[in-house]
Amino acid sequence: MTIKEHYDVGIVGAGPIGGYIASELSKDSDSIALIEQHKIIGKPMNCAGLITPRVFEKFAIPKEKIIQNEIKGAHIHSPTGNTLMIGGDRVHAVSINRTLFDQYFSDKAEKQNTSLFLNEKILSIQTEKNMVELTTSKDNKISCKCLIGADGPYSKVRDVCGFPQPKEFLRGIGAIVDNMSLDPNFVEIFVGERVAPGFFAWMIPINNEGTKARIGLCIQKNNNKSPNYFFQRMFKEFPTAAYLKKAVIEQKNGGIIPIGSLSQTVKDNIVLVGDAAAQVKPTSGGGIYPGLLCASHCVQSVKKAFNTDGFCPEILHEYHQGWKNDIGRELSMGIQFRKLYTKLSDKEFDKYIKKFNQPSITKIISEKGDIDYPSALLRPILKKTPSLIRLLPRFIR
Ligand SMILES: Cc1cc2nc3c(=O)[nH]c(=O)nc-3n(C[C@H](O)[C@H](O)[C@H](O)COP(=O)(O)OP(=O)(O)OC[C@H]3O[C@@H](n4cnc5c(N)ncnc54)[C@H](O)[C@@H]3O)c2cc1C
Repeated sequence: MTIKEHYDVGIVGAGPIGGYIASELSKDSDSIALIEQHKIIGKPMNCAGLITPRVFEKFAIPKEKIIQNEIKGAHIHSPTGNTLMIGGDRVHAVSINRTLFDQYFSDKAEKQNTSLFLNEKILSIQTEKNMVELTTSKDNKISCKCLIGADGPYSKVRDVCGFPQPKEFLRGIGAIVDNMSLDPNFVEIFVGERVAPGFFAWMIPINNEGTKARIGLCIQKNNNKSPNYFFQRMFKEFPTAAYLKKAVIEQKNGGIIPIGSLSQTVKDNIVLVGDAAAQVKPTSGGGIYPGLLCASHCVQSVKKAFNTDGFCPEILHEYHQGWKNDIGRELSMGIQFRKLYTKLSDKEFDKYIKKFNQPSITKIISEKGDIDYPSALLRPILKKTPSLIRLLPRFIR
């Protein structure tokens, strides 16, 4: 039987961003629908699950159960095996159980009377007068005054409603592995053309013995080899293979990362947030913190729009300006840095990793380094290593 229901706000996608928005909006409204194509929120999980402790503080998320391990630093490995150690002084990041993280928001939303539609994929989106009508895979019709596309990197809302596309998509692959012997407080990062062209590979310990880890890599979309080709290579070749001699794969996954936030994220009464809007750090591919930050601007504007003359869609445009003012510059700087990064040859990776490997520089990185705001490092590093100014034309181009 077809159900026809009407809501003030319809949110497509119950990932962390859609779930967070639903949990915030449903504090003041019982007319919120959250629609998710999968049966279980947070599954399947396509994420390395590394975020900063800031996320827990800023978005008032309980740490118990969700945090798996604390990360104090990173070893960055060059193609020939030079290693740069950064951090080690304090907790710079945490590895999280992504499934529980996503479920935290949706559970909260549901308890506050959000109508949660699970196992229902949005198949079509029709805009009529001031309403949007969604048809689901169960042939239900959900209409809403305001539609929020939080439907991730492959966003249907973005594509059907004529929003611009992200600049680039990275292709990723990851796995949970057991039988490792990692330093439990350090992530291992590997760069270079043979390991992960255009991005990097990672090993993140997820327990405090360093025996379990999430490993993975991303590559540029235009590479003619698959992410799995490079993943297999991690087990066979220097420098990654040494870490994976006894590794047992428990679970494998893949996904894409959109890079290059959109120039338009509001159209009439439709809003895009999170990966759907490519609100992702171009340097690390991390989308949870910037996505949540942008989602908080979305919540503000949607609430204001509903508090003005019943519903005033024009106010939704404040969302676009709000998130741009907050994190737009950081994301743009990330794009510039990424342009430079993708042009570095293996020889240059070796050279710069060696160059940075001196206490005066690693101290700056440890003190000023912030995974969420990497641009904070630019000025102090340039001051300490003026020869890097030679790279600036490549950064700007
Ligand atoms: C390999 C890899 C590693 C990563 N590692 C990290 C990391 O360590 N740290 C970090 O911060 N970020 C990481 N990310 C990025 C992070 O996973 C995303 O930025 C984050 O999930 C974005 O959240 P979201 O809610 O916008 O989208 P998603 O998490 O993708 O959620 C979107 C939801 O919408 C649902 N959906 C989609 N289409 C429809 C439809 N038509 N109908 C109904 N439902 C639909 C999906 O099923 C999904 O549940 C990684 C990504 C990848 C691919």
